[in-house]
Amino acid sequence: APALVWFREDLRLDDNPALTAASESGRPIVAIYLLDDVSPGVRPLGGAARWWLHQSLTALSRSLGDLGVQLVLRRGAAGDEIPRLVQELGAEAVFWNRRYGAAERQVDSGIKAGLRADGVEVTSFAAALLFEPWTITTGSGTPYSVFTPFWRACLSSPPPRAPLDEPETLTGWERNVATDLLETWELEPTRPDWAGGLREAWQPGEASAHRLLNEFLTEKLAAYDDERDLPAQSATSGLSPHLRWGEISPHRVWAETDLVRRGASSREAAGASRFLTELGWREFCYHVLFAAPDLATSNWRSSFDAFPWPPLNEEALAAWQQGRTGIPIVDAGMRELWRTGAMHNRVRMVVASFLTKNLLIDWREGERWFWDTLVDADSAANGFNWQWVAGSGADAAPYFRVFNPELQAKKFDPHGEYIRQNVPEWGTDAYPEPIVDLAETRKAALAAYDRVKRAA
Ligand code: FAD
Repeated sequence: APALVWFREDLRLDDNPALTAASESGRPIVAIYLLDDVSPGVRPLGGAARWWLHQSLTALSRSLGDLGVQLVLRRGAAGDEIPRLVQELGAEAVFWNRRYGAAERQVDSGIKAGLRADGVEVTSFAAALLFEPWTITTGSGTPYSVFTPFWRACLSSPPPRAPLDEPETLTGWERNVATDLLETWELEPTRPDWAGGLREAWQPGEASAHRLLNEFLTEKLAAYDDERDLPAQSATSGLSPHLRWGEISPHRVWAETDLVRRGASSREAAGASRFLTELGWREFCYHVLFAAPDLATSNWRSSFDAFPWPPLNEEALAAWQQGRTGIPIVDAGMRELWRTGAMHNRVRMVVASFLTKNLLIDWREGERWFWDTLVDADSAANGFNWQWVAGSGADAAPYFRVFNPELQAKKFDPHGEYIRQNVPEWGTDAYPEPIVDLAETRKAALAAYDRVKRAA
């Protein structure tokens, strides 16, 4: 009887503990990816993420196929479909790598219990995070809510395990299993086809994740610490969507970076530590999500429930989404996002501050837009970072620190290169006037914040 490997946010062969264990079980393997947008609480993917998923599944299916393993595609509620497939195959063992959202955990533990009751062996593995959330706690056993002590605790824990090599051979099941055709899922946009910019900017899949990591470590590491905040420079790794889909594991990134760090110049060593700290922020986002499952929809600090958001200004929201606010750095970021499915981290902070503080629009509106348009949108980092900027989150920037987009542009895009790349009509009559006065709206935001202070 075959073993079933259920792929989820781990679309890779390298360092895939579930796949390796299935292979070592000696059973022939069937792989499945299930498109589940119906299980209660599981958030349907945004448009850019669906585009990415289509490409990534194509790549995974090919590389599994090269090793003789079929990737079966099915659609539906996991709680129904996984047991159904297990029965259909007569599978005696199921392997998967863990997920950390509350709804996903509930789905997974329900399936696990049901299958075990039927005598099926089910094993889950740690693969998406360097440190399992429940293993890092404060002295009193509670989750951390501040990054620095969290990361210090991680670094003084037993180091992350070494990454597993990609299996050289796998044994597929001899029978062909019924599968959906990927095209029928309609993950890719057709009319209109807005994905041209995404295709230009990205090559989803495991191979390109490894290529990006290598390029980063050989060409960008030394300048990373100095240049990572400059949006016109391509100074960062570009790994976030690959990490989000698990096309590369954080263990692989950690191990390779650590290898380079030894015997490196001091600039490279500084770059490496900074880069690993950024991975630490990714860990922290999941750690916070694990303890606060509704991170993407509820204020982490409940005192922010008292924030007096004015009625939604739809026009201002649309101007922000479409990059025509008349604030060049904001428009540049929003247009980069629409075109490529990504935005430089520094600019993400600026546009998020502008939305929540200058336009006084609830951070959840921004979170939703990013969810739909970012190729790296994930349930931990997106909600966490929106709340970080809005001031309602864990270890957040204090609310009263309102980014001034003009000063940010001067500091981080001093020659206006990034702005010109994304807003070609900047400086001409075709470019709109600012839709708000920065100084006045800042004052209004601080006044609104007084309510939160009184509630706290
Ligand atoms: P690098 O500088 O090369 O960093 C390496 C890796 O570290 C990244 O790939 C990412 O996995 C991790 N990382 C870096 N910064 C952060 C951070 N602030 N929080 C969490 N992880 C981080 N990142 C996402 O992956 N998904 C999101 O949905 C997301 N939404 C965001 C929303 C807002 C409002 C803001 C301000 C930031 C958001 N980020 C999100 C974080 C960050 O902007 C991206 O991770 C980063 O721009 C990715 O580029 P890179 O891979 O070249 O980063």
